[in-house]
Formats: sequence, C-alpha cells, structure tokens
Amino acid sequence: MPDQLEKIKEIALDCGFSHTGILNVDTIKVRTEVRDACAVNKCGIYNKKWSCPPGCGTLDECEARIRKFKWGILVQTTGILEDSLDYETMEQTGKDHGQHMQAFAEKIRKLYPSSMVMGSGGCRICETCAFPDEPCRFPQEMNSSMEAYGLLVSDVCQDNKLPYYYGNGTLTYTGCVLLE
Ligand code: SF4
Repeated sequence: MPDQLEKIKEIALDCGFSHTGILNVDTIKVRTEVRDACAVNKCGIYNKKWSCPPGCGTLDECEARIRKFKWGILVQTTGILEDSLDYETMEQTGKDHGQHMQAFAEKIRKLYPSSMVMGSGGCRICETCAFPDEPCRFPQEMNSSMEAYGLLVSDVCQDNKLPYYYGNGTLTYTGCVLLE
C-alpha cells in the first residue's frame, strides 16, 4: 500500500486540493473531548444526520471502524484571505473543499470500494438526511467529519508531518480518506 499512496496523492491534487499527506492510521488517537464538543452543536447539525453524533454510533464503534484500516491520505484546501474579515473567501474555501472531497471520493471508491471518507462537517449527499426516521440512503457513500469520530485534526496532521496552518491570511480545511 505505501507504494500506491504517492499515486493517490497525485489523484488528490488533480481533484483540486492544495496539500496532501500520507496518513498512518496507527497514529490516530480517538478523543472523547473532541467527540463531546459536537454536542455543543456549533455547526447546527448535531443529532440531525446519520453521519454525526449520536447517529454515527458510539466513539468505540467509530474507533473500531477506523482501526480496520492501516493507511490513508490527508487532503487539504487552503484559501488565501484578503484580511481577517474576508468571509467571502472563507465561505468559498469551504465550498471548494466540499467539491474537492466529492470528486476525490468518487475516484477513490472506484479504486478502493471499501474506503472511508471523512471530511469537514456532516454528510451532504442528500438534500435532507433520512435521520432519524429512516435508515441512511447511501451507507457506502455517507461521510462523517473527522471530529465526529473523535479526531483532533491538528494532532492528526502533526503526527503525520503535514502542516495544519499555513500562516497569517490563510484558512485550511482538512479531510482524509482511509484505504483498505
Ligand atoms: S447519505 Fe443521505 S441519509 Fe445518509 S447520512 Fe448522508 S445525507 Fe444522511
């Protein structure tokens, strides 16, 4: 697998990401405090999607899903802000990252059908999530955020030697794909 990861990094860059890095799943620490922060519901989607707590399962269940994998790819989209009030670029960078994730996930699933995608924010596949009344409509494609699985993104980047922050005037979104 490590030999193939360089090729997959190229695919990620072709999808528009600014930066990529190899993710060794053994470095991942699952943190209760990160998961607990979801319940504060700053994002407004806690308890609203199958991809998010509590619908995505307990932290132990999430960790068990992660530990089935050995390798992955970290992917980032960095926006350059004109100033600290440049909300337009902040919003656009988030949208760009979502589009990059979608394009990358489609390509990767053709190569690795059992891969697991974790982006920023909850799953956006359906206009309205089936949660909680009906099962997830696309369980194979559904994607959770790294935080929903208890991952502190800055630590994951640092532990895999990929910067998390690219300096003043930048904003970076990070996601990852775990590969069987
Ligand atoms: S695929 Fe659809 S139903 Fe499943 S988590 Fe995503 S939005 Fe919800």
